[in-house]
Formats: sequence, C-alpha cells, structure tokens
Amino acid sequence: MGKDQATYRAMVVWEKEKDKFVCEVKALDFGELPDDEVLVKVHYSSLNYKDALSASGNRGVTRRYPHVPGIDAVGVIERSPSPAWKPGDKVIVSGFDLGMNHDGGFAEYLSAPQEWLVPLPKEMRFEESMSWGTAGFTAAQCVAKLLENGVSPHKGKVLVTGASGGVGSVSVAILAKLGFEVVAVTGKDAGRYLQILGAAEVLTREGFLQDNSKLLLQEQWAGVVDTVGGEYLETAIKQGRYGSTVTCCGNAASADLHLSVYPFILRGVTLVGIDSAQCPVLRRTELWQKMAGEWALEQLADLVTVITLNELEKNIGKILAGKVTGRIVVRMIAPPDRLVNNGKESQ
Ligand code: NDP
Repeated sequence: MGKDQATYRAMVVWEKEKDKFVCEVKALDFGELPDDEVLVKVHYSSLNYKDALSASGNRGVTRRYPHVPGIDAVGVIERSPSPAWKPGDKVIVSGFDLGMNHDGGFAEYLSAPQEWLVPLPKEMRFEESMSWGTAGFTAAQCVAKLLENGVSPHKGKVLVTGASGGVGSVSVAILAKLGFEVVAVTGKDAGRYLQILGAAEVLTREGFLQDNSKLLLQEQWAGVVDTVGGEYLETAIKQGRYGSTVTCCGNAASADLHLSVYPFILRGVTLVGIDSAQCPVLRRTELWQKMAGEWALEQLADLVTVITLNELEKNIGKILAGKVTGRIVVRMIAPPDRLVNNGKESQ
C-alpha cells in the first residue's frame, strides 16, 4: 500500500431500503482490515455467477450487508502475519467464504486467512489466472473427475450444458484439448464461438431437451459437465451411456432434480457433485498447476472480456440474465504500461 494511502477503492453492495440493494464504488479505510490476515494488493478479479447473486442481495450467498463481493482474485502480498507467505509473493485467493460472508476481490486490496491462498503458478500471468477464475477452476474440477472416473475419448461423446457461460466455455475448451468429441448445448447464437473453443457439435436447448416423462432415454454420453441443473441435468443423466459419469456443479436453470433410480441401477451412471468453495488446498494447488501446464488453453484470451470496477454493475445484470458469453475479468490495477508482443501483460 502506498505510504500516504489511507483508503482503497472497492465495489460495495448495500441495502438501500428493505430488499433493495445497490452497488457503489467507494473508498474504504485500510484501518478496517484485520491485522491477523494476509493483505493482498489485487491485480485482477473475475465476475462469476455467484458474485452476481451476492451483489443482488441473495441471502443464500451473503447474509450481511454492506459487503464487497468477488469470490476470486490474484495479486501480490503486501503484509503477512504468517511465515508461510511473505510480501511480494504472487497469490491466487479464491473459495471458502471469500466474497460471500468475507469481503472479496472487487477491491484494490483484500485481506484473507492464509489458508485461502494458493501460489500463482510460475507459468501463469496475473490476467490469465482470472481468465480461468473460479468458473475455470470449477470446469477443471469437473474434467478431472471425469478422467478419474475412467471417461476417455474412445468411450464416446461428452456433453457440456450452459456451454457459452464461464464454466461451460472452459469445460468445452479443456475437453476438446484432451481429444474428446464435445457436444455443447447453448441457448445463445454461440455456435461459431463454441466451435472455436473446440466443440464438435452444438445443440440448441430445445434440440437437446426431450420428452421428460421417460425414465430412460437413448444412451449418448460417456461423460457430462452440467452447469445448469433441472431438466437439462435430468435429460443428460437419462441419456448417460452404460458406466458414464455426470458431473453436476451448477443451477443456472434450476436447483430441482426429478429422476427415477433407473439410470443408476440399470446403466451404472455415476452422478458426481462438484464444489469449489471448500475444495482442499492440496487439490486446489494441483489443479492450478495443471491449468498452467498441460491444460493451458491457447484460446483463453478469446473467451475473455476485461472490465474495470466501474463497469461491474452492468455486467452483473447481464450474468444474472444468462447473457454473458465466456468470462469477465475485472482489472484492478492501472492498464499495463509494459506489453509483450502478443498484447498480454508482462509481469
Ligand atoms: P454463467 O452465467 O457464466 O453461465 C451459465 C450459463 O448457463 C449461461 O451462460 C447459459 O448458457 C446457461 N443458462 C443460464 N440460464 C439458463 C436457463 N434458464 N436455462 C438453461 N440454461 C441457462 O455462470 P457460470 O458458468 O459462472 O456458472 C454456472 C453455474 O455453475 C452457476 O449455477 C454457478 O452458480 C455454478 N458454479 C458452481 C460452482 C461450484 O463450486 N459448484 C463454482 C462456480 C460456478 P447458454 O446460453 O450457453 O445455454
């Protein structure tokens, strides 16, 4: 923090009147930050669906307001009470209660318990890490589960729902990179975008959903990444091939799930729940290394829009309306003055 700097900027959500929440960029006092947590100068954060819920007063995500959302951030440590971390260390902070009931990454500085930090992999740039962000990390968790459960390209096609969203886009790209034949379901006119990410086939939502009264449908998928829940997840499970794995991470369409046991007891379908918030640090660190290394995505820059704190509010409305394609990264530092020749920020 600058020597004479007493405040830092943050996007604060507060309840203006009962159940009416507003977002405002405000100056907050450094003195309010706890001394017993690690202080991080934030370089980038990212906008995730959960941030939009927190920013719009969803008490299931955030109980108390005023509040600074932002469930992930990358930056540099300024002050650390723990010998495990030192000033100058580059870190990713994400998950646990960050941006939910603990002030988050939509700010120039954040403080967090040391257990919430993972090192920024050496091969990864600041902006790149938040291009993945929590959505990309969740996609990586879904793909890792499919692989661990024995799903491989020769076993058949894999399905991704909510494919043009954050988790969906990154899932399509990783799976395609690993050689899978990816079928993407989208409600947008996003066919070209999804093909660039590597989708072999793109289905409309209407084209995908089938007669929901049937207990089983024709076998199609060796693996599934479902980000939307409800009838999409029901259809995907009913279409699971013998021994397939279906990962469930989101509820963008619905939190409901109405099924019989038949996909599980007749086809041996495995349904795996994915959670990023409480994912253990060791697993977290391993996956970030994979994302920086063998799963690194050349197309990542194509799926990112970079915005500033002041532009967050309108993008929160867009993500709640299911209108965002790809990932939104929030830049907290001044635009880079040193650029390498591919246009990305040098560190
Ligand atoms: P996005 O808003 O970026 O993407 C969601 C996508 O779902 C949309 O772009 C849209 O894709 C599709 N969609 C939205 N509304 C509907 C609807 N009514 N019916 C069908 N499809 C719809 O969100 P994220 O990708 O960041 O997150 C996806 C889900 O995963 C969310 O529910 C989020 O809360 C959850 N999540 C869970 C995590 C965990 O730890 N379990 C971590 C991160 C996210 P399209 O137009 O292409 O169909």
